Amino acid sequence: MDFDALINKLDLPTKIRLLTGADMWSLTPLPEIGLDRLVMSDGPIGVRGEQWSSADPSIALPSPTALAATWDLNLVRQVGRLLAQEARRKGVHVLLAPTINLHRSPLGGRHFECYSEDVHLTGEIGAAYVEGVQDGGVATTPKHFVANDFETDRFTVNVKVTDKVLREVYLRPFERVVRAGAWGLMSAYNSVNGTTMTEHSDLVNGVLKDEWGFDGCVVSDWTAVRSTEATALGGTDVAMPGPHGPWGEKLEAAVREGRVPESAVDDKVRRILRLAHRTGALGGAERAEQAEIDGIALAREVAARSFTLLKNSGDLLPLTGVRTLALIGSAAAEARIMGGGSAQVFPDRVVSPLDGLREYGGAEVRYALGTDPRLKLAPIAEPARALFLDASGELLAEHELPNSEARWVGQAPADVDVERLAAVEIRATCTAEVAGEHQFAISGVGRFTLTVDGTTVFDDTIAPAGDDPAVAFLHAPEKRFPVTLAEGQRVEVTLRQHSVASFNGMVLIMFVLGHANPTLGEDELLAEAAELAAASDVAVVVASTTLEVESEGFDRKSLALPGRQDELISAVARANPRTVVVVNAGSPVEMPWLDEVAAVLLTWFPGQEAGGALADVLYGEAEPGGRLPTTWPVRLADCPVVDVTPVDGAVPYEEGEYIGYRAWARHAVPPAFWFGHGLGYTSWSYDAIDAGNGSVTVSVTNTGSRRGREVVQVYLAAPGGDPRLAGFDVVEAGPGESVVTTVFLPERAVQEWDGSAWRAVPGEYTVTAGRSYADRPLTASLTV
Ligand code: BGC
Repeated sequence: MDFDALINKLDLPTKIRLLTGADMWSLTPLPEIGLDRLVMSDGPIGVRGEQWSSADPSIALPSPTALAATWDLNLVRQVGRLLAQEARRKGVHVLLAPTINLHRSPLGGRHFECYSEDVHLTGEIGAAYVEGVQDGGVATTPKHFVANDFETDRFTVNVKVTDKVLREVYLRPFERVVRAGAWGLMSAYNSVNGTTMTEHSDLVNGVLKDEWGFDGCVVSDWTAVRSTEATALGGTDVAMPGPHGPWGEKLEAAVREGRVPESAVDDKVRRILRLAHRTGALGGAERAEQAEIDGIALAREVAARSFTLLKNSGDLLPLTGVRTLALIGSAAAEARIMGGGSAQVFPDRVVSPLDGLREYGGAEVRYALGTDPRLKLAPIAEPARALFLDASGELLAEHELPNSEARWVGQAPADVDVERLAAVEIRATCTAEVAGEHQFAISGVGRFTLTVDGTTVFDDTIAPAGDDPAVAFLHAPEKRFPVTLAEGQRVEVTLRQHSVASFNGMVLIMFVLGHANPTLGEDELLAEAAELAAASDVAVVVASTTLEVESEGFDRKSLALPGRQDELISAVARANPRTVVVVNAGSPVEMPWLDEVAAVLLTWFPGQEAGGALADVLYGEAEPGGRLPTTWPVRLADCPVVDVTPVDGAVPYEEGEYIGYRAWARHAVPPAFWFGHGLGYTSWSYDAIDAGNGSVTVSVTNTGSRRGREVVQVYLAAPGGDPRLAGFDVVEAGPGESVVTTVFLPERAVQEWDGSAWRAVPGEYTVTAGRSYADRPLTASLTV
């Protein structure tokens, strides 16, 4: 397509209007050149669409850490194709994903949303994801370019990192996905070596566009464009969101006054038109018909394939001959299926471990809460109504909701006149299952009135905590109100927010009317769970982090499981030696009870089909396919790289290239589980290795009694250097069968950045192959 001919038809104001979002998620359509409205949407685990609301549900897949734990590029490509299918269903052209920053510190708030501590694994999973999504005609924007590996002061922090480390570590995954053909890229909020990334001409124009030949479109992270000339010249192509922002008329003036050349504007327009053409928003790109993918089945398969069996004493798993199963933990009944922040989507069904295990029917499942680590009350789980009102209280529109949570971000429902909108009210009914002191709660920011059965229990303003707008809304404070109810009593509860916040001209409606039944005290809950475990054949405790622990916008403070979950697990393990702990967390947690329990299964944030996949794996219908994409410590205090707290506005990456297993290998204290670790339900022997011209061939044999899958990992150590992952493959074999796999080595595996170019490091390399960083039975050598 002749993009220049189209550009020539546009005047300067029209071209500039295209460069800033028309609203929260889209670009201005230009019918005069055949350009449709180009729509973008988060995010890595699903496609939310333009509405941030349960009114527009999406398939919710397992967390990105889980996807990386599969080490399975074909599976990741299939996930990408499903996401493209979801995007097309929702009219989305550009998926704001994948997140390919690195697991530098376990405290990183978006650790769950990134893939791995390893450069190669991150790059390969990222590239497969990009290929899958784009196969389906939908663009990706790998993010956040670059060094956005933690959240504290994310808008302003300056990451200090040497050129060599930037090239060899933090830029490597981006280089890989650009080579895989990414059509977009998202620039980060933070600065690198003193320049904010939306203005970083050296890295964006220089490295990304000129050196790597990236012909796609650089979209800013939301509100990351904070200057006019410097960002326009710095290589950012699109400033999101809009319609307001530092470009518009100011950029027009800068062009007219010769401070920004018009050719720079044209280059951005050309990149947007190319993106639109690729995604069918300009001149309908041709796409081969693809078979419909069953999202529910794929979500379940990916979950099982990501579950990582860390420990399995006495082969307790898979479970056999179990008549009674004690299922314990708040996350067993309400699974934590995803992390918080912009990665959130709204599935129309969630299968909890309790649902999944009951449905499987392998044993009589008896449930106990044990302890509740959640800091906030859940919405009332009964259908509710949302009323949209004007300043005089007149009803503008009314909508049904699945529960008592109000959430419209960027857009109100289409039939609401936003100009007149002054208040939103949730109306719910709550039936007391038990008599006693029920808790009602408001979680939100602004002025609220809460009534229970006509009595006002709160009428005041709740102020935000902190000054990050994302944190203020996504993690609003909670206020609780006790109300005594008789058993079976039905009460009307209303919560009205008297002002509708907006950001950059877009509505932000986000509040929850929470409720909790009266419960036993925590000591009684713990004792009850231990008794149930003692009286059952096997105990399964589902332990989780909470929304307040793992989310965008802030970093973690500790790796401890929140609340009294550690105590609960020890109590259950004392009551029943056949205790399985299911760790439902997106990133590492401390497991002080590790020696006390028989088995530990890490399920990450498993997505909407959590419970079905858990039943599959616990009962051996599926093998736990996951291998750790990141080394797990015993304690936070042991970790070689932790620091995420800026001093004088900066975080120096002083550890250089030594993050993850590279750092642990030089560290005095060993981790709990090394990179690459994960058990299956069969055993393998590593038989032979042959390292040749750019490839390594490994043969393995399934020495167990059932069919299984193994992730064969190949590491390369430069002369005098440490081993680094250089390739991997997932193989499958029946009992007694051998498989041979050939892994191709990327050229970067034998190169280093010499200050101005990549250069091969000659010499004798040691090649090893095995099932984790710590277990590499085969060795060969390779001369470069
Ligand atoms: C996040 C991005 C996200 C964007 C739009 C930002 O706060 O950092 O990852 O794509 O919001 O939701």
